[in-house]
Amino acid sequence: MVVSTAPAAASAPTSKNANTNASDIATKIALAMRAMGVMGTPRNYEIYYEVFAGSNQELNAELGALGSRPRQEDLDRLSIKYFIQTSNQLFVDNVRDQIANKVEEVMILFERERIQLERYGSILSQSSDGLKKREIVTQEILQRISGIMASATDSKIEQGKQLVTHMIDKSAELEEVKSKLEEYKKLADTDPMTQLCNRRAFDRSIAHLYDDPKKVMYGALVLADIDRFKQINDRYGHPVGDKIIQHVASIIRTTASADMVVARTGGEQFAVIIHGMKEAAVTELAETIRKAVERLVPINGHVGSQGGAVTVSIGACMAALADSADDLYTKADRALYMSKANGRNQSTQFSALPDLKSSKNWLLYKGE
Ligand code: GH3
Ligand code: MG
Repeated sequence: MVVSTAPAAASAPTSKNANTNASDIATKIALAMRAMGVMGTPRNYEIYYEVFAGSNQELNAELGALGSRPRQEDLDRLSIKYFIQTSNQLFVDNVRDQIANKVEEVMILFERERIQLERYGSILSQSSDGLKKREIVTQEILQRISGIMASATDSKIEQGKQLVTHMIDKSAELEEVKSKLEEYKKLADTDPMTQLCNRRAFDRSIAHLYDDPKKVMYGALVLADIDRFKQINDRYGHPVGDKIIQHVASIIRTTASADMVVARTGGEQFAVIIHGMKEAAVTELAETIRKAVERLVPINGHVGSQGGAVTVSIGACMAALADSADDLYTKADRALYMSKANGRNQSTQFSALPDLKSSKNWLLYKGE
């Protein structure tokens, strides 16, 4: 097994035992999990299976770093980071079951209420039939009938009160489930590393830009990509790389205004969707972001010249210069790559690009 902390019992299959059947493998993983005090939940099993298969070195290293008795909250974090689809699916399944249960409980309450109302109705109708049939109604009969009706009414009032209390309880529980669902929706749209919008939320928002011609008029897209990030990773390691991504994300988020959608669209790439700005203001925002990153993002605790600055290249395009969301992205991307081709750490508007087909810089950059 690649995780150094796992017991030998869970060693990965070699060519000799490659035919080991699936249940043997499952048993080995389950034994390894038990030896490490890990609960046998499907989510945990998924992590250990992936590590066992050796297909995700990063996950391997992170699990190894948790030691021989990993805490459940750390395993949950890995699950969300590496198996977001599964964890979202589990969440949805869970909430769906809770909603189904609550709806069933409410239906039972209504059914009970229907039966009780029928019973009450039948008592009333029997009493009125009794009154109609008797030509001479004695005081004693009247007293008996009114006693029956009073007790049926009292018990109906009591049942009605109980129903209201139950319904209040049920709606509070449903409210709780609803807020869990809202939390899930947010989670499904959020990049776990930076807390920015993820690609899915970005795609949805940018598509809306073309819903309304008024939005297109002063809409824009700004794309930013960290320069020579591979070198940073190679020199300082992935965890430092991750921290830098988080710093850049936070700078872009705080520089952009609250109404702008800021997303991490890929590894070290970010996007800002803008409404209601002229081109000059968009350029100014792009430059503010670029300068802030250069000035503020530390590498190994050093900022700027001491540690070699972290920089971003930026491309921007006004929505009015594109026909669709896809076209806007392509054009902003071209502007971004022109910033790269021209030496990085700069921003370029698509409108300022020369004819790209004949651009030497563009071809040079693409050929790197
Ligand atoms: P350029 O200036 O042209 O953008 O060069 P670059 O090195 O930034 O671009 P390139 O596409 O060659 O490399 C990007 C690197 O980013 C490669 C990939 O391993 C790394 N990366 C992607 N996602 C993550 C992440 O979440 N964390 C870390 N630490 N690295 C990541
Ligand atoms: Mg890059």
